[in-house]
Amino acid sequence: MKEKYMITSVKGFKDIYGEDLELFKTARKVLEEIAESFAYEEIITPIIEYSELFERSVGIDTDIVEKEMYTFIDKSVRSVTLRPEITASVARSYVEHHFETKPLPLRFYYFGHCFRYEKPQKGRFRGFYQFGVEAIGDDSPLLDAEVIDIGYNIAKKLELKNLSVKINSIGCRKCRTIYKEKLKEVLEPQYDELCEDCKKRFYTNPLRILDCKKESPELKDILPKMIDYLCDDCKKHFDSVLDYLQKMNIPFEIDNTLVRGLDYYTRTVFEVISSDLGAQNALLGGGRYDYLIEELGGRPTPAVGFALGMERLVEIMKSQGVVRRDKRLIYVAYQQTAFERAIFITEKLRNYGFKVFLDVKNGSFKNQTERSAKRNAEFTIFIGEEEVKTGSVVVKNMGTKEQKQVNIDDLNGFFKEQRNV
Ligand SMILES: [Zn+2]
Ligand SMILES: [Zn+2]
Repeated sequence: MKEKYMITSVKGFKDIYGEDLELFKTARKVLEEIAESFAYEEIITPIIEYSELFERSVGIDTDIVEKEMYTFIDKSVRSVTLRPEITASVARSYVEHHFETKPLPLRFYYFGHCFRYEKPQKGRFRGFYQFGVEAIGDDSPLLDAEVIDIGYNIAKKLELKNLSVKINSIGCRKCRTIYKEKLKEVLEPQYDELCEDCKKRFYTNPLRILDCKKESPELKDILPKMIDYLCDDCKKHFDSVLDYLQKMNIPFEIDNTLVRGLDYYTRTVFEVISSDLGAQNALLGGGRYDYLIEELGGRPTPAVGFALGMERLVEIMKSQGVVRRDKRLIYVAYQQTAFERAIFITEKLRNYGFKVFLDVKNGSFKNQTERSAKRNAEFTIFIGEEEVKTGSVVVKNMGTKEQKQVNIDDLNGFFKEQRNV
């Protein structure tokens, strides 16, 4: 017989399990709870869209659309794409379902799988999960501040270290056009010094040269700053966002090199940063995108939001020692003659909302205790013939090794009390 070879997961895609999954779930819960507490509602959009959606929204000159999309022709000969991000889909949904007839602004959050054909590296995968929020239908700077506030609160709740916000404004069509010309004027004599990507960006998207990691700080120093070129409306908007942030006690820093890679952003762009051991990590990034919905065939509609990658967030949580592995397991060990009582107690505890593992192999209490320890249980309950007679169980705290006899009717109260200490 021919030996079967092992099939691996597709390159750049990974299984999530164990400790990573615990952190992933902890993070997801915090993200969703905070978004809900700001009265944002979940929206679920399809994983697959017509390719045109991303070509028109993300922009054909971007790395995402040029090189990174999972695009294929389906059986009805339409070009479809596995979504590389979710904002475009939310905007498409807004236009398609005439959400503009609802009370505005609408506030959404989303969570889902995205796909980009990139070089896989630490914390970066071809299949990854994104979480984000979008507030659509209002241009108030308070909404920019609210979205930043959500991001900041998420990071705080996850207990990430040294939080701050980097913020910039990239203006509107009017003032950005003037700024781009000025930028090109200053860059032109330096053109030959630019990296290969920036030589292209000089013509297609010169703003992206500002955040290119390959360009020297000396070059960046001589470049004009967007905030000096903002028109009156954009300037007023930006000042007002900063004023709200101050009132909300959110620490921020203006970063003149901050731009976003996607074409639909306008005015406010920001990142929430956590720094640890000298390393600065962007947890999430976002901004205002007042032209996107118009670009997709809707009425001109202002909007603002942010997105974050879950895998990256989990990496940062791990590197900062955020450990939320749920050890609070109750392990039920029993003598074979007390099996029915063990089943009864297990079910009772599960109904009270505890996580309970009923020993499968049985055998001596010693062996069962060893298995309980291997599973990092917080408590082991022992049920033998004696306990059946007295209507009680012996509970062992696996950390302190302390043992106590507890009446069956008192178990709920006993465990609740233990956990509040
Ligand atoms: Zn402007
Ligand atoms: Zn460059």
